[in-house]
Amino acid sequence: MSVSDPAPIASEFESPSLEAQAAAVKSAFAEAFGAAPQWVVAAPGRVNLIGEHTDYNDGFVFPLAIERYVVMAAGRPASPAAEDAVRARSTMMDGTAEFRLGNLEPERRDWTSYLRGALAGCLERGMNPGAFDVLVDSKVPLGGGLSSSAALEVCTATLVEAITGRSLEPVEKARLCQTAEHVYAGVPCGIMDQFSSALGAAGQLLLIDCRTETATLVPLDDPNIEVLVINSNVKHELSGGEYAERRSQCEAAAKIMGVKKLRDVTSDQLAAARDKMDDVIYRRAHHVVGEDERTTAAAAALQTGDWETVGRLMYASHDSLRDDFEVSCPELDVLVELAGEVGAAGGVIGSRMTGGGFGGCTVTLVRKGREREIAEAICRRYRERTGIEATPFVTKPARGAHIIEG
Ligand code: ADP
Ligand code: MG
Repeated sequence: MSVSDPAPIASEFESPSLEAQAAAVKSAFAEAFGAAPQWVVAAPGRVNLIGEHTDYNDGFVFPLAIERYVVMAAGRPASPAAEDAVRARSTMMDGTAEFRLGNLEPERRDWTSYLRGALAGCLERGMNPGAFDVLVDSKVPLGGGLSSSAALEVCTATLVEAITGRSLEPVEKARLCQTAEHVYAGVPCGIMDQFSSALGAAGQLLLIDCRTETATLVPLDDPNIEVLVINSNVKHELSGGEYAERRSQCEAAAKIMGVKKLRDVTSDQLAAARDKMDDVIYRRAHHVVGEDERTTAAAAALQTGDWETVGRLMYASHDSLRDDFEVSCPELDVLVELAGEVGAAGGVIGSRMTGGGFGGCTVTLVRKGREREIAEAICRRYRERTGIEATPFVTKPARGAHIIEG
């Protein structure tokens, strides 16, 4: 396909400035609560380069924190309603939400679930921030599969660090935020999202071993490579049980194989046991076992600059998620297919769906200097084929959660 004659892109394609965002959040806080904030903190979203649906199988994931942050500004209220009263506002939501640190209501489900869950984890560890007002803003699209929820949790824990002057060990911080998502949001996620937001480092990807919960930093320092994220802007609301169903299918396969998790199985062992399981269970396991191998292989290839291999593994990951794990959707398939049509000649290294599936984003590695024309060509063709406007942006691996002020 031709990449000439691109249509213009209206959305924010380059990374927004965190400094400018923090300044805007500070003045919005002052306007909302009538005083300047004392603390400003930030936590990024993430995109997973490869390693999908492997985390809850004790396998490997290979994400990067993105240059899109949740930012919070907070301060002590002049006269709090109670010594443990929290007032929270979001630039994305109407009204002011209120709750008490002494009664965090795990069953209550609203956008403050993520804050309350992270606060509960901090309180359990003896970190009590006391009454505060907080204003939240985000450049991570909500519900786009870039983990605005984890960013919100990690940002909250970082705010408590700023207020109390005590710091959490980063892995511990990721864990308490994961528990927040499990208990307060009711989402039984793996550790990847919170880990990426808490431990992300500028210019580095994280190869996370989800069994040991340890991360190896892998530099993405080739100046000729860009990470292009394209939001399909669709989210298929299925029955909702797909995630739980995939998890239990993986558990069933592990049980048949006689291991704790699919992490413990090699491709050869799985192939040898094929007639012991029904076709669906086999294909689910085939994805997970292959994906683990692709993920570690991609991390190795990336370190030696073997982009052809990285790209091939990304496409193979997508095919496997589409055909064996069955969590893609037509829109994600179209985006990846269009990236493939631009191909190596047009500056595309590889492309795949990223995140849990059924919508959300694709991640595409591209040659620097070509990113705009590639994004424009893919989005134009996507619009022609689906009638939907996709949102593309580029990012580098970003710094994880940190205190900006206070
Ligand atoms: P994802 O993590 O992929 O973005 P989720 O559904 O897990 O999608 O989390 C999105 C939810 O997180 C939103 O529906 C909202 O409740 C909450 N959220 C995230 N960012 C913000 C924000 N800046 N302000 C208010 N709520 C937010
Ligand atoms: Mg989420």
